[in-house]
Amino acid sequence: MVDYVGRIYRPPSEARSFLLQVTVGCSHNRCSYCDMYRDKQFRPKEWATIEADLQEAARVGPRFRRVFLCDGDALILPTRKLLRILEGIREHLPWVERVGTYGDTRSVGRKPVEELTALREAGLGIVYHGMESGDDETLRRIDKGGTAAECVETAGKLREAGLAHSVMVLLGVGGRDRSHEHAQETAKVLTKMDPPFVGALTTTVVPGTPLAAAQARGEFALPEKFAMLQELREIVAGSEFSACRFSANHASNYLPLTADLPQQKRELVGLLDRVLEAKDERLLKPEGLRGL
Ligand code: SF4
Repeated sequence: MVDYVGRIYRPPSEARSFLLQVTVGCSHNRCSYCDMYRDKQFRPKEWATIEADLQEAARVGPRFRRVFLCDGDALILPTRKLLRILEGIREHLPWVERVGTYGDTRSVGRKPVEELTALREAGLGIVYHGMESGDDETLRRIDKGGTAAECVETAGKLREAGLAHSVMVLLGVGGRDRSHEHAQETAKVLTKMDPPFVGALTTTVVPGTPLAAAQARGEFALPEKFAMLQELREIVAGSEFSACRFSANHASNYLPLTADLPQQKRELVGLLDRVLEAKDERLLKPEGLRGL
């Protein structure tokens, strides 16, 4: 049996990947809206445990083409340790074509481009970056632990290292009072980052989080559903990409969609405008079918 500690999360596009847990929890574990790893104390897993998981995966199959390194920010591990893990994947699962991980301004920021390049050469293919917002005030309020300028630097380093970069943004996380700035600044920063993938998720206030406490104190108010779609509209309309697969297909979203930008930009903005004009709840995913 593969060794999994606690709940395991992965991006929607890693649904068919072998999930290899190389760290437990998240070294930051402070983002106000996130409850994913609050029950876990961050720690790297022992190489012996990781290797046993690779041996088990090789023995029982199936032959996964992709591996995703869990938990919250595996890229925070020292490069030496990550290279050992990537070598282990190559040795035990030689059929694997791509390895992915979460990473952000902190984990990418502490690695020089040469080290990121070495990781790419050893098999790392994609970094999923939870940017959430391009608005510095929102980033400060949610305790994200990075700035918009650092997000742009992160994108530049990953591009230079030849790593694919998927940026996640979080609709509604700026609250009602910051909704417009959150959307406008996010569009500007995404344009500067110009990543090949963007995923939009929708904020859910999870009980037990600092965001829920702020809501209870009256310091945070989640924008209503159509206001969050308005943010999505502003982000799509306000950003310019060279070639980006833009998705809002996470379970949390009210209107699942995927488009290739810039080719489908007009189509996507038109669709969002029609939904925003109709304001018909029947066009949206019912609340009970949304997931976190
Ligand atoms: S959102 Fe990501 S970085 Fe923030 S606490 Fe959760 S897992 Fe850690």
